[in-house]
Amino acid sequence: MLRWLMTSLLFAMISSVSAQNAEQSQVQKLAQQQTSPLLQTLDKLVSIESGSRDMEGLNKIRALIESELKAIGLTTEIIPAAAPSKTGSMVQATLQGKGVSKIALIAHMDTVYQRGDLTKQPFRIEGNQAFGLGISDDKAGIAVILHTLKMIKALNIDSFGVLTVLINADEEIGSPGSRDRIMQLGEESDLVISFEGSSIKSDYVRLATSSIARANLSVKGRASHSGANPDFGRNALYEMSHQILQMRDLSDPKNGLKLNWTQARAGTVPNMIPSEAHATADVRAERLSDFDAVEKTLNERIKNKLIPDTEVKIELIRGRPPLSPTEKGRATAKLAQSHAAEINWKLEVLESATGGGTDAAYASQRAKGAVIESFGLQGFGAHSDDAEYVLISSIAPRLYTTTRLIQSFKP
Ligand SMILES: [Zn+2]
Repeated sequence: MLRWLMTSLLFAMISSVSAQNAEQSQVQKLAQQQTSPLLQTLDKLVSIESGSRDMEGLNKIRALIESELKAIGLTTEIIPAAAPSKTGSMVQATLQGKGVSKIALIAHMDTVYQRGDLTKQPFRIEGNQAFGLGISDDKAGIAVILHTLKMIKALNIDSFGVLTVLINADEEIGSPGSRDRIMQLGEESDLVISFEGSSIKSDYVRLATSSIARANLSVKGRASHSGANPDFGRNALYEMSHQILQMRDLSDPKNGLKLNWTQARAGTVPNMIPSEAHATADVRAERLSDFDAVEKTLNERIKNKLIPDTEVKIELIRGRPPLSPTEKGRATAKLAQSHAAEINWKLEVLESATGGGTDAAYASQRAKGAVIESFGLQGFGAHSDDAEYVLISSIAPRLYTTTRLIQSFKP
């Protein structure tokens, strides 16, 4: 009797293991089959220019995303950007399951590029690389969401309660019109998966992102004729240059602080000593308190002037908050890692920020559940003039891991 019991117990264990293996290999097979359809989706997405303020382009790409979501079987809704922001509308879509978990999938459709840049970075495939404008940041994120949903439908996965997709149109300019909706979605969800890209060196998901601020420097001098009476003028451009050079060493990368001057303008015509000059620095930090310290330093430094009669002001505008690791985030990242391991894919979990700030941070502000970032593809060259690409070899493992995570996640 005991022997019979043990044999049947063993048999039950083996058959449940093999059932699970069969299920896994089915997901794996489907993920592999989705590689080339996903590349076709990427081709369509990057061929529409959708800079953050390009309303025509944003409307076009939003319509494409909405029709794809509808075709998969989701219920869609267009959510206008919150007033007074005049940024593009969001697409929201939902899929009902039979479970209880509320899972949100977020990505953004806008890019940092200007209309016309597409000619420099058209979609093309070279070996393991798929190139295109905004392909890694963040059109691959949208494509991974769409094809994960296709897999969930094809596999009849309904273990979740509701999947909510939210694609916004203003991430690259700080999400002024979508942050409220993202915070609300974060609060309502047991899990928020954000689909920004990961790196080509190693594949990772992240539990931390940087906080972003802008330092605005303005200089007032005195205008004068640059030919007839230059000495009467107080050259705001010279003073601004001096200020930038003496404030170029404020980064502290070991502690996650980065300050880089990225924009400057001065003067109106070539034959006038400029009376005004403005410059902006991009500032990243892991903790909001770091901004207070850097603000103090900036205010100290500007006291040292090159041209005595000029007026120098600095203002630090705090933007996106940081995303910080939580216990729920860690547990969910571990679960994702274990699913990646099922197909021998090495997925790292990053707990410290590397300079990027994303909407995952807004989602985490009032979240009670887990928020994880970087579920897009391995990629390179975001915000660059050329050569932005994603690794084709990361498509199937990422589709597999995301599908399995949605399948197994329990709040
Ligand atoms: Zn992005």
